[in-house]
Amino acid sequence: MRKHLFQSILGRPVTEAPPRLDDPELAAAAARLDRATKARLGRSLAIRMVDAGSCNGCELEIHAINNSVYDLERFGIRFVASPRHADVLMVTGPVTANMREALERTHAAMPAPKWVVAVGDCAIDGGLFAGSYAVVGGVAAVAPVDLHVRGCPPNPTALLKGLLSLLGPAAG
Ligand code: SF4
Repeated sequence: MRKHLFQSILGRPVTEAPPRLDDPELAAAAARLDRATKARLGRSLAIRMVDAGSCNGCELEIHAINNSVYDLERFGIRFVASPRHADVLMVTGPVTANMREALERTHAAMPAPKWVVAVGDCAIDGGLFAGSYAVVGGVAAVAPVDLHVRGCPPNPTALLKGLLSLLGPAAG
């Protein structure tokens, strides 16, 4: 017990170092995203997020793009509670049988034009969970996917870059 006490007092923290606020790659992606949203949308981009059966690893990274380091809302991009207000349907996880109808109804409730973004390797083809009796497949099994953001999970910079590529040539 005494050994563990000394280790916890003298040892280094077990948490990872925070992301650098002056990361040049992030700053460049953020500047392009800002220009692209203003040029292409002129107002704001609203995202409805659906967890179709993920392990929640992808959600933790998506939450991070809203924190004070990445601060997605500074570009006019925000998460909304209703699919009727959304331009983008962001989906994580393999689509489970239990979530299939909810995902279909959410997609159907969104006004056109609309984009679907599948986040994480599971959203592509079921990933680790492919073949399970409880899994229908990737997001494309239920709705047409415009963009895949790969990774398990993708980090916040990859998510920002993904949104940037979704905005197309205006993001260049
Ligand atoms: S891609 Fe990885 S982190 Fe995301 S839901 Fe699948 S297993 Fe979890």
